[in-house]
Amino acid sequence: MSAARRNLLGLSRKELAEFAVSIGEARYRGAQLFLWLYGRGATSFSAMTDLGKAFRERLSLAATIEGLTPAAVRHSRADGTMKFLFLLRDGAGVESVLIPPASAFVGKGVANDDEQRRLTLCLSTQVGCPLDCAFCATGTMGYSRNLTAGEIVDQFLQVRRATGRRITNVVFMGMGEPLMNYDNVMRAVEILSAGAEIAARRIVISTAGWAPQIRRLGEEKQTVKLAVSLHSAVEATRARLMPVTRKFGLAELRAALESYYRATRRRVTYEVIFFDGINDSVREVAALIAFARVVPCKINVIPFHSIRFTGTKGFGASLSPSRRQEKIVERLRAANLTVMVRSSAGEDIEGACGQLAVREGALRPRAVRTVGQT
Ligand code: SAH
Repeated sequence: MSAARRNLLGLSRKELAEFAVSIGEARYRGAQLFLWLYGRGATSFSAMTDLGKAFRERLSLAATIEGLTPAAVRHSRADGTMKFLFLLRDGAGVESVLIPPASAFVGKGVANDDEQRRLTLCLSTQVGCPLDCAFCATGTMGYSRNLTAGEIVDQFLQVRRATGRRITNVVFMGMGEPLMNYDNVMRAVEILSAGAEIAARRIVISTAGWAPQIRRLGEEKQTVKLAVSLHSAVEATRARLMPVTRKFGLAELRAALESYYRATRRRVTYEVIFFDGINDSVREVAALIAFARVVPCKINVIPFHSIRFTGTKGFGASLSPSRRQEKIVERLRAANLTVMVRSSAGEDIEGACGQLAVREGALRPRAVRTVGQT
């Protein structure tokens, strides 16, 4: 009896070479498979036309290319953002968001060339999320599991195939905490940068502050960009907003960031949402400025997006956007900090930052459904 066929989607270049050897082929076959799977996005071995019939037949006996099932696409009428829902083999679902050029930031005047060409894809790394930030929709779903590297990469391959567009940037800011799924996320980074031509410096990993793995990014001298969802530099406030603070406090986060910066000399991005009466006081802003002095950084201010549709109760439901945001941004800039104000691209399709949540009812397998304008 033959062994179970190996799913090649998500294997790195090295793993594909090893796989080729394991079925009696030369190592260089791995590089050919790598190019077909990730560069050209082949979904079947028969499509790999330059590989030779005998090799392709051997491949179909030993391997599969098993991806996600596309389940729905929503288009934002307001700004062209697209949100994709994918079903996983075990019936769970994840979402990815494609953000059109020049809509990521507001209030910066005319976008430069790079921004005009930028097409950013936001990927999920876990089914749900265990961190339960008070303001985030994903947290309300609870946590099921890490995504495999194949499931992460296939979000990219499918969106590229479905839209036929050249994606220039990738951000790990979808559902889940990427640094809790370190190995699979880094394997996806390798595949995207070497196989799909997204330079690692155009890939952002956003973390709620998983300190040990921030250090590890530094130790491994990873060239991805690091973003940290900070939200408050006052311990008690941050712990209320982001329970992960009770595991890795601000002192530990600060030390991890110093270690990361020493190793990489890369500037860190802090993401901050200002909430009315929570983290918008003079004291909070002073603490934020002090924290921002620890390592060279940039601050991205994200407007608070409503998560009312998740039925959140308690503290989370009481949160509302600060009315002082503009003043605070001025204050931060006066302190010589680089501050960007993010737009709310995709808010009308619940595809903006923090709004990704897959509801039970959305998960019955069905034909691809397109909602909204096409
Ligand atoms: N777990 C990672 C990545 C996913 S969240 C992290 O925490 O960074 C991606 C970004 O969306 C984070 O900066 C997060 O703080 C932000 N976010 C979460 N909920 C939000 C909301 N309701 N409105 C605006 N931004 C939100």
